[in-house]
Amino acid sequence: MKNIVIFGAPGSGKGTQSDLLVQKYGFKHISTGDVLRAEIKQATELGKTAQAYIDKGQLIPDSLMIDILAQKYDALCPCSGVIFDGFPRTIPQAEALKQMLAERGTEVSAMLELRVPEEMLMERLINRGKTSGRADDNAETIAKRLHVYNQQTAPLIDWYTAEGKHHAIKGYGPLEEINAALCEVIDQA
Ligand code: ATP
Ligand code: MG
Repeated sequence: MKNIVIFGAPGSGKGTQSDLLVQKYGFKHISTGDVLRAEIKQATELGKTAQAYIDKGQLIPDSLMIDILAQKYDALCPCSGVIFDGFPRTIPQAEALKQMLAERGTEVSAMLELRVPEEMLMERLINRGKTSGRADDNAETIAKRLHVYNQQTAPLIDWYTAEGKHHAIKGYGPLEEINAALCEVIDQA
């Protein structure tokens, strides 16, 4: 089976590209952002906890995220492949993912980083905010999320490079072009 990490800053297009990959490969898709938003919508305890962090543009604590991820994974697999979208976002999460997959006799096949210039991310997210209804897609929270990304998440690029799994993909231009570049890596992973 393939375990694909789709990686990038907020607004880099992880969700959009994940949907295309699901259609093409039939992989399962775990979007931690979607999972949290569903919990918020259902007003669960987890949802209430998550909302407080999300509204501030902060990350949910690692221990909580790691439990949620393992639960989702086991609900969907065994299967032909999984796309991890929005996880890992910190080095402890990457370490936990490595351990979780090792315990299940598998590993990350590739980490695909969607690269998009920061001005473009800002513009995309402001635009998305007009229709997404997402409370965190406003200028102030977007700036915080980009800061958190640079501080806590971007170090994963070096971490996965050291694992020999990092691939950078140009994340702007025609969607099909981006998708083709991702597929080229996945087919060889
Ligand atoms: P994209 O637009 O590329 O899909 P995003 O950053 O806009 O990415 P989500 O991945 O949907 O949005 O995440 C939304 C919020 O959920 C994050 O800002 C964070 O607060 C929380 N979150 C999601 N995944 C994690 C995670 N792995 N660890 C901690 N918090 C998370
Ligand atoms: Mg998303």
